[in-house]
Amino acid sequence: MRCLALDIGGTKIAAAIVKNGEIEQRQQIHTPRENVVEGMHQALAKLLADYEGQFDYVAVASTGIINNGILTALNPKNLGGLAEFPLKVSIAKHTDKPIGLLNDAQAATYAEYQLQNHEQVSNFAFITVSTGVGGGIVLNKILQTGPHGIAGHIGHMLADPNGPVCGCGRRGCVEAIAAGRAIEAVSSQWEDPCEPKEVFERFRKGDVKSTALLERSAKAIAHLVADLVISLDIQKIAIGGSVGLAEGYLPLVEKCLQEIPAVYRCELEAAKFGQDAGLVGAAYWVKDVLLSK
Ligand SMILES: [Zn+2]
Repeated sequence: MRCLALDIGGTKIAAAIVKNGEIEQRQQIHTPRENVVEGMHQALAKLLADYEGQFDYVAVASTGIINNGILTALNPKNLGGLAEFPLKVSIAKHTDKPIGLLNDAQAATYAEYQLQNHEQVSNFAFITVSTGVGGGIVLNKILQTGPHGIAGHIGHMLADPNGPVCGCGRRGCVEAIAAGRAIEAVSSQWEDPCEPKEVFERFRKGDVKSTALLERSAKAIAHLVADLVISLDIQKIAIGGSVGLAEGYLPLVEKCLQEIPAVYRCELEAAKFGQDAGLVGAAYWVKDVLLSK
């Protein structure tokens, strides 16, 4: 089975043919910035035309919430005018092949879970710490998407009821404290302001202020891990994303986790799939879950 996989992000759309987890003919375009609704319809039409006749089904991983084929978002600003975009209908205009859609972090979770020993690990989670914080949850070997597509939006669990207001409107979400955007919100206000990448460089040189800022982020992620373990008996968690995979970050999370009682801990590992996690995960998931029915 050949899959046309699409990964729709806030800044780019990736497309490729995926077969048995292998990626071919990958291309990447910018997510439309102006006239976004019409721009998205046109971008999808072009991608479907580019791969015409080369696929048996379509799998889409997208930022935001995928609810019955409609794209929405907890933080509508992340999607510009694309909130409430009819993603599935827009694709179906150009193909009569089956189409499956899920959230990009859910798709990445499914990709990472394919690398696990399913006999040993039945409850698994993925956390991506990037511009925002996202994730996905596997319970009893099944990726949870939920009746509204919301399951796994763990970046919006509570880290601090007195913390900053999150983009979703709630105060103190993990994302509002741990994400790259949250790190930048603080470091850009310093007397010697800098971007998150520079915060990491200063941290690796032993800068106290940068270390404290990254520890604040890592601590929120460690407590998110603890909450997942104690609520769902998660056995293993993969951490990804540009912040999550930055040198020195995972050891910080491990250190913070060691300060929490043992019953709250589980094994952590760095996510293995890079930028193609969404494409590969969506291709596997749609084949395994939707097409096998
Ligand atoms: Zn939030």
